[in-house]
Amino acid sequence: MVRENLVPNKGKKPVIVMKFGGTSVGGADRMKSVAEIVADHAQRMEVVVVVSAMGGVTDMLIRAANEASQGDRENWKNVRRELAHRHREVADQLLKAAEQATVLPRLADAVTDFENLCSGFSLVREVTPRAMDTLSSLGEVMSAELIAAILRSRGTPAEAVDATEVIVTDDHFGNATPIFDETNTKARQRLAGLRRRGVIPVITGFRGATRSGACTTLGRGGSDYSGTIVGAALDADEVWIWTDVDGVMTTDPRLVPEARILPEISYREAIELSFFGAKVLHPKTIQPVMKKEIPVWIKNSFNPSCPGTCIVPSATNSQKGVKAITSVSKADLITLTGKEWLSFPQLAAKAFDSLSLDDISTLMVTQSSADNVLCFAVHDADLRRVMARLEKTFELEMLHDDRVTIEVMPHVAIVVAISENMKGTPGISGRAFGALGKRGINIIAIAQGSSELSISFAVRAADVKDAVRAIHEEFKLKESVAKSQEAVEGKLQSR
Ligand code: ADP
Ligand code: ASP
Ligand code: MG
Repeated sequence: MVRENLVPNKGKKPVIVMKFGGTSVGGADRMKSVAEIVADHAQRMEVVVVVSAMGGVTDMLIRAANEASQGDRENWKNVRRELAHRHREVADQLLKAAEQATVLPRLADAVTDFENLCSGFSLVREVTPRAMDTLSSLGEVMSAELIAAILRSRGTPAEAVDATEVIVTDDHFGNATPIFDETNTKARQRLAGLRRRGVIPVITGFRGATRSGACTTLGRGGSDYSGTIVGAALDADEVWIWTDVDGVMTTDPRLVPEARILPEISYREAIELSFFGAKVLHPKTIQPVMKKEIPVWIKNSFNPSCPGTCIVPSATNSQKGVKAITSVSKADLITLTGKEWLSFPQLAAKAFDSLSLDDISTLMVTQSSADNVLCFAVHDADLRRVMARLEKTFELEMLHDDRVTIEVMPHVAIVVAISENMKGTPGISGRAFGALGKRGINIIAIAQGSSELSISFAVRAADVKDAVRAIHEEFKLKESVAKSQEAVEGKLQSR
């Protein structure tokens, strides 16, 4: 129902950027379905494709590189075999002979790059972030070649395009940021010829390149971000992110099987959800499309007839209260206590200045008493770097009579309740508190910003599932979704 309604009619085919994730291109059957989805829509729309690596491939590449850099000379050879085998198998099953002749040498080139890089890492016993980016995004090079060839094999003109020729980024290897104006020009120029000839570009997700051409990556899960970067560059009508669930859900379905699909959420809600761990979207996905107000759909490549979730500048909110819940299950709570020598602002300024040097983001922050006590949560993966920074920054104060003490509480989870509609609605935190209390779940810390877009609770990691479930039940999210569906349909009919 929804989707074709939202595509504006400008007297020409709407431009839709479609991004397919790792599970959606996870094997021959899945790639075949992707080709069907693309070819089917290409009759009514101008489709530009962005693809992730086949599921599990990026993890495998990164593991091989790390092992090689520790001097291992064997394991990466097994990975090379598996890499070649998984892609070759798809080519064997789905490509005509002529296409195989084109694509197999290109796949072999990527495998040779892998081999040369790993062999170098094991010799010098090091892998630089720059070299890691080239290696970790080889999966995208291989899947883009395959998807383009499968489309051609079934008579749909398509060509693989390396995003190093499309997306210009800074040189923050491993987590690069696009330079938007240069990307916009480069993307339009690189894709113009193909689009004019009606050839579908199949662009590698996850990677980009610096101005000087060095390959970068956009952070793990970054192909979603690639999709919207390309969408914004081409002034697309919509960006469709195809994944393995029917849309953005009221919570992670792996934690709460009763989770329901949200028909519509706002940009701000999507940003909040993804920042606090909802894996369905890379946290920066919405940023490129915000100014141009391009809608982003989350759709299921396993169930293409389901409309999915539409992420829009401002959503129709039918009910007051919590709309979705997310969680970060591996976090640590750090408590800094400063004696009277250091005022709270000084303590906070020094602490956050030091974290900014490593680009570390905090998950929640509280000032927990009248004393100089600063408490904040970080991702467990960042803990080592955080502690190294803090210990260096407060070295002197710690030596002098413990003027600053640092305590770490490990195994913490942050549970976040989200909705634009909580603003001005009293009693929401009270209900959430009550729901957790009833289940005997202790709240270690709580934070709510004045924007009232989210409320965060720190609980023991062991309690995360129960905590999410308790809040999901308390706010009747399973039932409330039917109401939002009606509201979205009402909004569409009134257009
Ligand atoms: P892709 O490979 O397509 O990028 P991801 O695995 O990165 O897919 O993201 C999809 C997964 O995100 C789903 O399978 C689901 O388990 C997880 N997920 C976490 N939170 C949510 C949520 N609120 N709504 C939908 N999916 C979620
Ligand atoms: N393949 C990359 C990863 O696994 C990017 C992505 O899937 O979005 O992180
Ligand atoms: Mg993903």
